[in-house]
Amino acid sequence: MEKEIAIVGGGPGGLTLARLLQLKGINVKVYERDYSKEARVQGAIVDLHFDSGLKVIEAADLMDAFKANYMPGADKYRMIDHNGNILTDEQGQDSELGFGNQHFRPEIDRGALRNLLIDALLPDTVVWDSQFVNMVQVNNIWELQFKNGTTATADIVIGAEGYRSKIRTYLTDIKAQYSGATIIQGEIENPEKECPEINTLVNNANLIVMGIGKTIAVQPRGDGGLTFYASSLYPENWIETSGIDFNNSEEVYAYLAKHHEGWDPIFFTLFKSCTHFTPRPLDYFPLNQHWEAQPNLTLIGDAAHLMPPSGEGVNTAMLDALDLSECLTSPKFQTTQAAIAAYEKRMLARAAILGKEALEGIKDFASPSEESVKKFTQLFNQNG
Ligand SMILES: Cc1cc2nc3c(=O)[nH]c(=O)nc-3n(C[C@H](O)[C@H](O)[C@H](O)COP(=O)(O)OP(=O)(O)OC[C@H]3O[C@@H](n4cnc5c(N)ncnc54)[C@H](O)[C@@H]3O)c2cc1C
Repeated sequence: MEKEIAIVGGGPGGLTLARLLQLKGINVKVYERDYSKEARVQGAIVDLHFDSGLKVIEAADLMDAFKANYMPGADKYRMIDHNGNILTDEQGQDSELGFGNQHFRPEIDRGALRNLLIDALLPDTVVWDSQFVNMVQVNNIWELQFKNGTTATADIVIGAEGYRSKIRTYLTDIKAQYSGATIIQGEIENPEKECPEINTLVNNANLIVMGIGKTIAVQPRGDGGLTFYASSLYPENWIETSGIDFNNSEEVYAYLAKHHEGWDPIFFTLFKSCTHFTPRPLDYFPLNQHWEAQPNLTLIGDAAHLMPPSGEGVNTAMLDALDLSECLTSPKFQTTQAAIAAYEKRMLARAAILGKEALEGIKDFASPSEESVKKFTQLFNQNG
């Protein structure tokens, strides 16, 4: 109870862990690279699941805050083909689903989720502008160093800084591998004006465009903007070898327009409306990874088990936070090493199952065949 815990990374995993530990009276700080709470847009929406994200929100005593911030109706899916024809549509359908139903997956803007977690923490829990660079152990105390020259100490360090985690390198040298799929992510600030047709199709919910060999997912952001993810299969290191300057929106537009040749013009308007693109090769950590449990160091979320997007990443990071907070504060364990070992066993086993599913699904999703378009359409019609 008297140990000080440093969480490196204030994403959904790290902030949830801080909240859960503070509820148990633990002394905790979160060291976050961003300059401030408002430093960057957090991305589009994320859906929380009954047996993971929502269960953790409940355990963190934040369900009222979640209900006040989620985006009703945004969990609906509309799927169209490359001509803009509707394949399947949950919008307009009366849904019986609601809180308490295990199939209900309410969506929340990532920024709103982050804010509600931060607002639940004790003042000054998050130390902004703290980009972790390295740490050393002196007499069982970790001394952490940050890029801005500041330092901190802690008894236990938790790496929650996502897929490029540096804390991870103090536990294992197992590296990420490439899944074969890459996403080009785009942000549209004013879709009502810039790409009204797509904006109407999105209608504040999820739009999936299924083409043979390529897909586009478009999601609303809480601030009225849109985020899209254009996915396909590409060779490893394609971003470096493609010759495309991803900071030059004209070049990226030209590539996307050629790649989607023959598609309905509404998609070219979508690409043209975007001034900022981010290429994301989808990497993953091996499913059978293992390391020796340490007495004062562990990982949660993407830092521990990066996997291709499958709708589980945020949910699993939050579940890791719950499991770790319970293990670290349970009287069942005589030592923190035993508590961390029990947590890691559970976390790695879960991640291996989810990671396998994500890997199996990503090629189908990023580069569907006619067969897989049919499969997805059937799946959505069944669930709808
Ligand atoms: C295109 C795409 C779509 C996705 N869609 C979904 C979805 O619909 N549902 C879902 O559940 N998951 C989704 N995911 C996965 C999800 O985003 C991640 O699994 C989740 O964000 C992991 O949470 P985290 O807290 O572990 O790490 P992160 O969210 O990556 O947070 C890490 C934090 O650490 C900070 N940081 C980084 N480096 C340092 C450093 N050196 N020092 C200090 N701080 C640092 C970062 O600024 C950040 O705030 C998607 C992923 C991608 C790529």
